[in-house]
Amino acid sequence: MTLTTRYDIVIVGAGPVGCCVAALLAAEGVVPPTRIALLDRRPPPESRADDSIDLRVFALARGTEKVLLRAGAWPAVGARRLSPYERMIVWHASVPPRSADALTFAADECGEPNLGHIVENRVLQWALYRAACDAGVVFHAGSLRSLGFDRQGVAVATDDARLCARLVVGADGGRSQVRTLADLGVSTADYSQRAIVAVVTSARAHERTAWQRFLGDGTLALLPLADGRSSIVWSVPIERADRLMALAPQEFARELTQDSDDVLGSLTLASDRAVFDLGKQLADDYVRERVALVGDAAHVVHPLAGQGVNLGVLDAAALVQVLQDATREGEDIGAMRILRRYERWRRSEAQLVSAAMDGFNRFLARGHGPIAALAQRALPIVGRSALSKRLLVERALGASGELPRAAR
Ligand SMILES: Cc1cc2nc3c(=O)[nH]c(=O)nc-3n(C[C@H](O)[C@H](O)[C@H](O)COP(=O)(O)OP(=O)(O)OC[C@H]3O[C@@H](n4cnc5c(N)ncnc54)[C@H](O)[C@@H]3O)c2cc1C
Repeated sequence: MTLTTRYDIVIVGAGPVGCCVAALLAAEGVVPPTRIALLDRRPPPESRADDSIDLRVFALARGTEKVLLRAGAWPAVGARRLSPYERMIVWHASVPPRSADALTFAADECGEPNLGHIVENRVLQWALYRAACDAGVVFHAGSLRSLGFDRQGVAVATDDARLCARLVVGADGGRSQVRTLADLGVSTADYSQRAIVAVVTSARAHERTAWQRFLGDGTLALLPLADGRSSIVWSVPIERADRLMALAPQEFARELTQDSDDVLGSLTLASDRAVFDLGKQLADDYVRERVALVGDAAHVVHPLAGQGVNLGVLDAAALVQVLQDATREGEDIGAMRILRRYERWRRSEAQLVSAAMDGFNRFLARGHGPIAALAQRALPIVGRSALSKRLLVERALGASGELPRAAR
């Protein structure tokens, strides 16, 4: 027998963004927490102090940190191997990293204690999930099978349950079933690249610096971890990624050290390697009556500037704010004219970030030809312009654009 339970809001997907929507809705008191359901196949894995480092790490911007604080999750994130980074150095393969031709951002130059934090996916997801559940949000284990709409609401069906609500939030990632079942179109493009992630040790200290090199055929990021090691995100063409994955650890590390321009000396593999296909996706519409998409369900961007989760967390904060204002005005939170406010706000931001990532990838990371040469020459010029640097730092800190209240 299928059990029917009634909620105000059902969130499909307990990834970092879905958990953030749940925790923030509860913290802001938009609806009573017990009227919010979080649906995923299984709860996120528990994060324990003695876990080995998760291969997936995120560079979280200041705006994201503020939202997590507001959602009640930041103390738990901070208790686990939080790694602040104080500098960011970006350089092209045609110039040396420790030179005036590299683009350097330093926290102390802009009066900030740091530029952001490197946080493990498992830590982030668990902290947000706990904050939501501790506040009273109800977790349901199950996989979304169908959505049914009528004038009053939406019915979310799994194999053995039916959850009725006024609004369903699709936080179910790049292959969103909510998006498909709600008939929301999506534009996709393939980068023909894969990203390899792993943990490495280095001969020289990482200096609490996030290093990023544009390689000519991709990008390599070295993100500083709290224990002195670094996490790599190495985005290269598919054939090269497959070859690198097949190499023995020592040969892999040798090629990695070469691609890093020896910036931290010799690198040694300290973990397994994982690989991700890279593609771009932008949902044509983020909303329809009784449905809103957030995070990767709405947009997948190239990871070269580590913007994915940051964008998703700001989606969460913007949606919660729109819903909060609607409930204060006594409006229906699933009504199209309410949800359109969220879509207008966030879709343009995701388009902007996606286009910027495309440009970096085309002209700096992989570029050849006159426009690429121009872009590469422009990098040091940007580095010498205080205004351009300020604008870029504000974006990296997540302090630019129209920020939701929770991110200010
Ligand atoms: C190599 C790489 C490096 C990256 N580095 C960064 C970085 O440094 N900084 C950054 O901000 N971003 C980064 N990103 C992007 C980031 O990983 C994503 O933006 C982020 O994981 C999206 O979170 P999400 O919660 O929207 O989706 P997901 O994390 O994909 O979560 C979706 C959830 O939905 C659930 N789900 C799916 N379908 C169903 C269903 N039918 N029923 C029930 N549940 C379902 C899944 O089980 C999952 O738990 C990186 C991405 C890659 C590939």
